[in-house]
Amino acid sequence: MRKLKLYNTLTLKKEEFKPINRGRVGLYTCGPTVYNYAHIGNLRTYIFEDILKRVLKFNGYKVKHVMNVTDVGHLTGDRDMGEDKLEQGARREGKSAWEIADFYWAAFRKDMQRLNLSEPDVWCKATDHIKEQIELVKKLEEKGLTYKTGDGIYFDTAKFPGYNKLSHQPLAALQEGARVEKNDEKKNPTDFALWKFSPPLNLPLSKGEKVSRGKRQMEWDSPWGKGFPGWHIECSAMSMKYLSEEEDIHCGGIDHINIHHTNEIAQSEAASGKKFFNWWMHGAFLNLVGGDKMAKSADNFLNLENAFIKNSVNPLAYRYSALSIHYRKPMEYRADAIAPAATALNNLYDEFLVLQKSFFQGKPDAKLLSKFTANVNDDLNMPQALAVAWEVIKSNLSGKTKRATLLEFDKVLGFGLNDLKRKKTAVPPAIIKLAEERQKARQAKDWQKADEIRKKVKREGYIIEDKNNNQFEIKTN
Ligand code: AMP
Ligand code: ZN
Repeated sequence: MRKLKLYNTLTLKKEEFKPINRGRVGLYTCGPTVYNYAHIGNLRTYIFEDILKRVLKFNGYKVKHVMNVTDVGHLTGDRDMGEDKLEQGARREGKSAWEIADFYWAAFRKDMQRLNLSEPDVWCKATDHIKEQIELVKKLEEKGLTYKTGDGIYFDTAKFPGYNKLSHQPLAALQEGARVEKNDEKKNPTDFALWKFSPPLNLPLSKGEKVSRGKRQMEWDSPWGKGFPGWHIECSAMSMKYLSEEEDIHCGGIDHINIHHTNEIAQSEAASGKKFFNWWMHGAFLNLVGGDKMAKSADNFLNLENAFIKNSVNPLAYRYSALSIHYRKPMEYRADAIAPAATALNNLYDEFLVLQKSFFQGKPDAKLLSKFTANVNDDLNMPQALAVAWEVIKSNLSGKTKRATLLEFDKVLGFGLNDLKRKKTAVPPAIIKLAEERQKARQAKDWQKADEIRKKVKREGYIIEDKNNNQFEIKTN
């Protein structure tokens, strides 16, 4: 088997992957903050993590995958300012914060299924682990690394040498970034909350608020008084509980590098005296065309439902698009790029369905399998790996060999080739509408218009075939 190389944000290099324990990988991926649907940007990161996990298994490793569910403590500002996102979601929808968390966690699991993302071995909710988080804060307190302000217990980042080792930014730049969300009581701008005190009742209305926030729904007793954990502490406490203090790979999106993961490393390594994770891997962002970042809080928020399901496009077309761009390169979202991805996936399915009819069982082709493996093992080069899948289809290998090879590849690609009929991409309603318009134009003998529509539909990857009695059929190009 070719060596597996993975890019490590800690060293800024592609390095040969070696787990701490032979044959076994501990993998922690930061999970969803469940106050809203996951947007397709979030889902890009989960697709990258799913590919990573599949590639590790493809290389014969046993993977223990832990994913948290953030259902408390993530404030609207990433640096401990603003309102808890769950409490805000509850106010928005007139439900309890607990109902909000249950609802959006279930919605997230449904999205995972639709994208063929395999579930973690351990799901852990922050609110189920308040005790473990308090214990970890106590440990840091005993070591003299914390201090108290009017609104919580903070970690003193000046006491952790190497605070910037993941971000590779000068400390001054991190501090400058932190000053944007100002808290005058902090000793250093980069210090972060480990435990927040419940805000006092009868707070004055903040800007834009019509209803007072009232009492927090999520709060717990602690040695420091009633309150709730800071956002970062949950990942440290649960990673140590379900994996260990010293582990293999920790992932998230690139936005986590400078704050969330930097703080996780500081508090975990300060508490245990051990190296928290050897590999830190980060997925680049999905951006809207024009460079705007996609945020759950912004209006430009697209989820699987409104970007795919509503338009009758198989969500796996999104998985296909995400795989056609390397996970460390930014991806642009273009609504008009979805139809070609759906077509490409559909074509792959069509080709495979023909092979599926072959009665004989084959073996994967050794040469192409080795080429595929070399690509996935080269820091998850999925665009190249996809190209090898097409090379198989276009080759003159026998049908049974092609089928066996593609099924082997699909262990990583995850397009559900084994289970095809259910997942075949439907023709989008917009294309059907265009075909109907063309039919009307033909009946009115407006040949020019009919031809223009035919070309437009073709550019989207579909062909209209005319049948008798004014009927037509739409095929993928
Ligand atoms: P959240 O639910 O906000 O905690 O984010 C879930 C995951 O999505 C995290 O790993 C983030 O780093 C990642 N993420 C957030 N926005 C984007 C985006 N536009 N593109 C890719 N990943 C993102
Ligand atoms: Zn995390």
